[in-house]
Amino acid sequence: MADIGARPVRSQVDLESCLNDVLLTASEMLQISRCSLWQFVPDGSGIECKAYVDDPGVPNIIGTILNAAEFPEYFNEVRTHRLFISDNTLDDARLGALLPYLEKAWIGAMLDAPIVIGGQNWGILCCEHRGGPRQWLVEEQSFVANLADCVAIAVSNLQRAQAEERLGQAEGRLRALLSTQEKPAAAITVDPLTQLPNRDALRLRLNDLVEERLGYAIICIDCDDLAKVNDSLGHAAGDMALSMLAHRLDRHAVNFGMLARLRSDEFALLVPGVTTPSELEAIADILLTEVRSPIVVAGHTLTQSISLGIALPDRLEDDPDEVIRNAATAMRRAKEQGGGTFAHFNPTMRHQAVARLRLEADLVTALSRDELKLFFQPIMSLGDRRLVGFEGLVRWIHPTEGIIPPARFIEQAEESSLILDIGARLFQQACTESARWRRLLGNHAPTISVNLSARQFADPSLLRIIDAAMEATGVPGSALKLEVTETSILSHADLVLNQIHAIRERGLGVVIDDFGTGYSSFSHLLKFPIDGLKIDRRFVSQIGQDRRSTAIVDAMITLARSLELNLVAEGIGTPEVANYLTAHGCWGGQGYLFDRPLTAEAAMQRIELALPHLNTGT
Ligand code: C2E
Ligand code: CA
Ligand code: CA
Repeated sequence: MADIGARPVRSQVDLESCLNDVLLTASEMLQISRCSLWQFVPDGSGIECKAYVDDPGVPNIIGTILNAAEFPEYFNEVRTHRLFISDNTLDDARLGALLPYLEKAWIGAMLDAPIVIGGQNWGILCCEHRGGPRQWLVEEQSFVANLADCVAIAVSNLQRAQAEERLGQAEGRLRALLSTQEKPAAAITVDPLTQLPNRDALRLRLNDLVEERLGYAIICIDCDDLAKVNDSLGHAAGDMALSMLAHRLDRHAVNFGMLARLRSDEFALLVPGVTTPSELEAIADILLTEVRSPIVVAGHTLTQSISLGIALPDRLEDDPDEVIRNAATAMRRAKEQGGGTFAHFNPTMRHQAVARLRLEADLVTALSRDELKLFFQPIMSLGDRRLVGFEGLVRWIHPTEGIIPPARFIEQAEESSLILDIGARLFQQACTESARWRRLLGNHAPTISVNLSARQFADPSLLRIIDAAMEATGVPGSALKLEVTETSILSHADLVLNQIHAIRERGLGVVIDDFGTGYSSFSHLLKFPIDGLKIDRRFVSQIGQDRRSTAIVDAMITLARSLELNLVAEGIGTPEVANYLTAHGCWGGQGYLFDRPLTAEAAMQRIELALPHLNTGT
């Protein structure tokens, strides 16, 4: 077996001979007649038999396809376990629909091992025992698992060899160049993590095209959520997600041109010759579709999403680096549109990109000068119009431009990790203010609801930030609520669940903001242990004017009451809307009718004004 694992596999022929040896070794060592190797079809919907050994005269099974949908229990087992062990197939409920097939081949026991490459299921090694039941020994089980690993190594060696070969000419030229610099060539042209050509290799190929005056296009590809995977599951998982993505993209990219990794989660596909937008869009669509199916990383099921930017040289002699930069600019535009899509480059994008970079730099300065301040908008209990809480809403107090609303900078901050620093600072401000109120009113002080962006919510340091601010100010969890959107809950469902539990253990409430504006099913969302919902102002402001919005609000009130969730309507602008909500049993409300967001000082005055109510707790 050691021999099989160490053997160089650089061509399809090498691989086939290696696989054949694996099958023969297995059948000899286990004394079984049939041993077969199956590979997952490209869309993962089933497996196809690629090689087998069997008794003479048994019908050929190469090319046979088993669809996963027809044998869900079996496929579920091999996708999630290192081995599928059945000592007695006739008795095995997991085999279900596979039984007739096994009976026909007279198979009484089986020992199957999934072949996993780069964290993805590549295929299955199936060892089948003819005749009655057979109890597989522990040594036999680990032997088969090891053989499956040998196959995985052989296949990934071949994949690597093929990737290297694709570098072809470009690599040869670079080698020649590098020989004068005495550096190892492969390390320079191949990206070690993904085994794809790197930026240098891409540049060489592009220079060739420019020299030969051939047209081309660049499609820049960026992973939309790698930062979140890194932040939440760690860098090793991030690397794994990235190499899986590279592998999935490259499967198709080889048909169109050369896929290279530029840096971190950015790739570029060089498409020689093709220049019509519709052809390029068709390629972009294929790549977008390919990455849509979920993958499993470190035990978590993730859905990946990519953004693509397409650019062509204006003139054949244009600097290829400029074309790559343009494609990256277009890619960022696709990301701004929510990701999971593509955009074509146009020159105005460049000006906007510069403006965005400037904003990001200005925000860093703003943070260091403490120019980001929370304002506080009162939340009233509608039944008795008492002041019960405030929502903290950030404003940028700009030295020359005046007060800048969050719509002009929060999204930009969310794209970089700046939102984490900003969020931590604002949470501290909320606690400091709450402590002031509590010195006056103790437990009767109004609560503060703090908005969290998705990135903050999935950030493992969130709890540390919360704890530090609460400890420094002495504010208890019950004085605070966190507002999160449904997308931030659902995009990292399994991580966020722990986060919500930990937050609620500290006494803070968790409220779903902008409820009803996402696309999630309510029943799914409401499985999370939350304390309240906020009806988005786009529905509230339409009450009494638009039948659909009014009906939505009615339904949300019914839902919240039956689940005993605290419901707050935001954006109440008129007494009619406030009265409607009160009459229908909505618990709380917030909006310009009561107050605009106030400075910390004005909020304090507002509290003092309401003091007689607050003090008695009535
Ligand atoms: P949001 O969380 O949905 O906040 C409610 C928005 O509605 C606020 O806008 C508020 O000023 C506005 N609003 C309240 N009552 C009325 C009304 O009667 N009529 C109208 N037309 N608008 C009303 P604002 O302060 O501009 O905040 C916009 C968004 O920016 C917030 O939406 C939230 O998503 C984000 N944001 C604000 N502060 C923070 C923050 O500290 N952290 C994070 N991550 N996001 C924040
Ligand atoms: Ca909010
Ligand atoms: Ca809202």
